[in-house]
Amino acid sequence: MTATDPTPLAPAAPVRPATLTSDFLQRLVARVPGSGGATWSLTEVYTGETLVELPQSTPADIEAAFAAAREAQVAWAARSVAERLEVFKRAHTMFVDNAHLTADLIQAESGKNRRMAIEETCDPPMVMSYYLKRAKQVLAPVKRGGPVPFLSTSTEIRVPKGVVGIIAPWNFPFATGISDAIPALIAGNAVVVKPDNKTALSPLWGIEMLERAGLPKGLFQVVCGEGPDVGPTLIDNADYIMFTGSTATGRVIGERAGRNLISCCLELGGKNPMIVLPDADLDETVKGAVWAAFANTGQICMHIERMYIHDSIYDDFKRRFVAAAESLQIGASYDFGPDLGSLVSVDHRDRVASHVEDAVAKGATVLTGGNKRPDIGPAFFEPTILEGVTNDMLAGSLETFGPVVALHRYATIDEAVALANDTEYGLNASVWGTDLEQAERVAHRIHSGNVNINDALATAYASKGTPSGGVKQSGVGARHGDQGLSKYTDVKNMAVLKKQVMGAREGQSYDDYVKQMLSSLKLMRKLRVR
Ligand code: NAD
Repeated sequence: MTATDPTPLAPAAPVRPATLTSDFLQRLVARVPGSGGATWSLTEVYTGETLVELPQSTPADIEAAFAAAREAQVAWAARSVAERLEVFKRAHTMFVDNAHLTADLIQAESGKNRRMAIEETCDPPMVMSYYLKRAKQVLAPVKRGGPVPFLSTSTEIRVPKGVVGIIAPWNFPFATGISDAIPALIAGNAVVVKPDNKTALSPLWGIEMLERAGLPKGLFQVVCGEGPDVGPTLIDNADYIMFTGSTATGRVIGERAGRNLISCCLELGGKNPMIVLPDADLDETVKGAVWAAFANTGQICMHIERMYIHDSIYDDFKRRFVAAAESLQIGASYDFGPDLGSLVSVDHRDRVASHVEDAVAKGATVLTGGNKRPDIGPAFFEPTILEGVTNDMLAGSLETFGPVVALHRYATIDEAVALANDTEYGLNASVWGTDLEQAERVAHRIHSGNVNINDALATAYASKGTPSGGVKQSGVGARHGDQGLSKYTDVKNMAVLKKQVMGAREGQSYDDYVKQMLSSLKLMRKLRVR
């Protein structure tokens, strides 16, 4: 299918890190309840070899995990915010110091390349760092005035939800499994996390590190199993659900949470566009485009699958982008060599390949890539650039979630914006141009929860102070920022009236009282008291 020579290879046989001993992996999975005796073979993606048998949790196990978490939560919530934060100060150091061991686990279970695995290890410390700075303010009671000046007050008090259920995907298992738990715990909740079976090891290691840093045992539970088996019991026992995954599953989760009248945050899929304006710096843009399309082997919810390039620079961009993609080194290796790692599984690789095959069958052209690479490992796929993709193709409208990107020309900015917005998704977008004001004007017109200018996605995602979430079919709610902490709390409105003055005085006619009340409303508005 490819028109080019094969992409250069890294050495084919990966040497598994010595850190991943059987004892260590057994210790990690020993935390997972599995009273029914069922297990799931967790494999090393690069080789397909079984690393460890992962216990599968029964409904009774899940209920027991919630009961234990609920018990531990009472004492945790009774601690001051400052005391809770002490744990995360120690954890921050521990997470950074153990980045390489964590990356070993992430690579083995997900097949991603080393550079991306190390970047993923940085996410929880960044989240901790932001909330270490902000949590006391966000969680502090806020005194508001009451309805009667001087005689009444109302105070907004943040109360933890109780036990938060987290359902995490495989593409960033450590970041989604641990980073989303950090603000939930800081807010005074317990957590029960359900990682994807394929990628349970790194979240289990994250929980172990948190406990070593002083998190009370029992407060952060983990249950494992296939989503449809574990999901219903997990949601039915939780006080809040934090879900990251596909839009299709998000709908199932949201429906069940709605029936239970608990709130949820749904971080879902995307079909993210990138617009290259005529004045873009092509050196930077091509470099950024390679990262945008192929980082994490295209398995980032915010990565770019559609590129719209102005007519005047299209051919130049295309030539340079294709050449850059062809120079990428794909490989199965635990060192920093390969630019690209594997897809997560053979099933997922076949799904990605089916999008390319469907596009070609319907008239698209493969400019480079397009091939499975079993010679490197079971689930490898080449970085692939398509041209001539239309919305009736799978790769045109659905999230491919692999190293596959489609190039399109546009003539006017209105056209580029309309094409970028022509999707049911709204997670991320990217705009490239040297005139920043013009790029911002374009960015304002894109219907998306995140828009990056002169970057693909990392600038928005790594800005932990700003909420990040999807619009349209890409999600409900957001993570990060103050909202990423306050969503794990309920608000209690504590109101105090110092003297009973509301209502008519003794002997006062109701006509009189109403007149007085209405004029005091006007007065208070004038004096801006209420
Ligand atoms: P998925 O929806 O298949 O699975 C995600 C998680 O949900 C897994 O743990 C899975 O076991 C569980 N699950 C599946 N069915 C379930 C059910 N019925 N009840 C309860 N849990 C269930 O998604 P995936 O393939 O693992 O992950 C890839 C998707 O995640 C992509 O669409 C990607 O865009 C999205 N994603 C979004 C973000 C974001 O922040 N918006 C981040 C990462 C990934």
